[in-house]
Amino acid sequence: MVNLLDRENKELSSTKDKLINEQKILKSISETSPIGILVSNKEGKIIFANTFVEKSLGLSKDEITERTYNDPRWDITYFNGDYFPEEDMPFRRVIESGKSVYDIEHKIVLPDGSYKLVKVNASPIVENSGETSGVVSTIFDVTASIEAEKKLKESEELLENFFASSMDGFYISLLDFPIRWDEKSDKEKLIDYIFEHERIVKVNQAFLKQYNAENEDMIGKVPIETFSHNIEEGKRGWFDLYEKGQTRVVTEEKKMDGTIMWVEGTYKLLRDERSYIRGHFGIQRDITNRINFEQELINARNKAEQSERLKSEFLAQMSHEIRTPLNIIISSSEFIKNELYDNVDDDLRTLFYGIQSSGKRLIVTIDQILKMSEIQTSTYDHNPRSFDLVNEVIENIVLPFKNLAISKGIDFTINNNLTESRMLADKDAVEQIIYNLIDNAIKYTLEGSVQVDLENQGKKKIVSVRDTGIGISKEFLSKIFEPFSQEEQGYTRKFEGNGLGLSLVKKYCDLNNADILVESKKGKGSVFKVIFN
Ligand code: ADP
Repeated sequence: MVNLLDRENKELSSTKDKLINEQKILKSISETSPIGILVSNKEGKIIFANTFVEKSLGLSKDEITERTYNDPRWDITYFNGDYFPEEDMPFRRVIESGKSVYDIEHKIVLPDGSYKLVKVNASPIVENSGETSGVVSTIFDVTASIEAEKKLKESEELLENFFASSMDGFYISLLDFPIRWDEKSDKEKLIDYIFEHERIVKVNQAFLKQYNAENEDMIGKVPIETFSHNIEEGKRGWFDLYEKGQTRVVTEEKKMDGTIMWVEGTYKLLRDERSYIRGHFGIQRDITNRINFEQELINARNKAEQSERLKSEFLAQMSHEIRTPLNIIISSSEFIKNELYDNVDDDLRTLFYGIQSSGKRLIVTIDQILKMSEIQTSTYDHNPRSFDLVNEVIENIVLPFKNLAISKGIDFTINNNLTESRMLADKDAVEQIIYNLIDNAIKYTLEGSVQVDLENQGKKKIVSVRDTGIGISKEFLSKIFEPFSQEEQGYTRKFEGNGLGLSLVKKYCDLNNADILVESKKGKGSVFKVIFN
């Protein structure tokens, strides 16, 4: 009897141990589970919530267990925010049907304003008597995966939209099997494989329009078909892409109707997670019009250059042709003048003077036209070197000006305040600049004076030519350096000249890194200041 009791006691205590053990296992499963577990009694009051529910809903166990399944504070809706009817709540459906329900989708707004998207399964707790004593609900937090899915869909839509509405042509081509492309690969063989097995899988409308093609002309096609017009060049281009991973090239392409177009494209390889190449995508722009336009520009420039060359050759030739006989006329008239001067009357003497001064004027004009054309056609021989501004330039040119000033009855002075008169520039150009400025100053001064000031300012040399002549109007000052611009024009013009002098001066200044400034007042005089930097 004692033994029997003992055995029963032992069995009881081992069942109790087992139960305690199972309870412990259940507890630790429920506490560590990544799925929420809620238990409600048959009245709908929540009597148990595991840690996952606490964490994901941001409420304590006590806060949860004081609520019923339909507590308004749950703020339960469908995923899209629509009202969730009471009769569809998992608890109600389980209690009413006595059966389990699956994958009921809820959106729950949390106390902090954020929300969770959850899927709920619920099952009845059925007593031995067959009576339902409550409901166990398992809650899957699907917020992250639903959000990610939504984002992916959005970005796919965005890409699709971009793809469809882009003005550039897009395509994606994929290999039948991804390939490894590295130092160990037989690349020539791979390119052959690629040309037979990389198929266009997606194109946009702009791409089809570029090629004048329909979807079926492109989709599924491999390069061996689409590159039929120039397979070797195509292979070279693709080899380059596979080597570099990305290329940007201009290629000649053939449209479906056989016409040729120029395409500027960017191409990029697509790789899988093992870094094997899966194919590539391309973005293409038809630049035929641009290329044609550029070619036209090049042709026009070549033509212009050729005609510029012809023009300057013509000018050089003509000036030689005019100069030679002109020099003969001038020197012959000089000779005749010397022979006859004392024996002829004043009228004839004036004619001699006329022949000579007009001849010299013609030579100056021809020289200036020639120099201008040299500069414009860039055939001017710019030759900077070190020289002495006073000894090698000013001294050279002043004498005829002094005589001219005396004959016009105006003062002509040169003030040399230079502490250093050597400079580095093209001497001929500097001479032309100063010559032209003094020439104009004397020409446009009827009385008073012309004064040339030379000075240093740091390393710079400044040459100012100041006159008390007719001056220049404000409006004309802005045009003064344009070729052939003269303030007074036409037959009433009182002064000689062709309007080229100052534009030559400006060009020579630019070539020698010099600035030129003008100040002038109508009727008072002008100052031209050249700063050799
Ligand atoms: P031009 O052969 O007519 O003198 P330039 O190019 O040397 O040609 O000068 C252009 C114009 O600038 C002149 O026609 C004249 O109207 C004006 N100009 C130039 N220098 C002076 C000056 N020192 N005084 C007044 N006007 C000047």
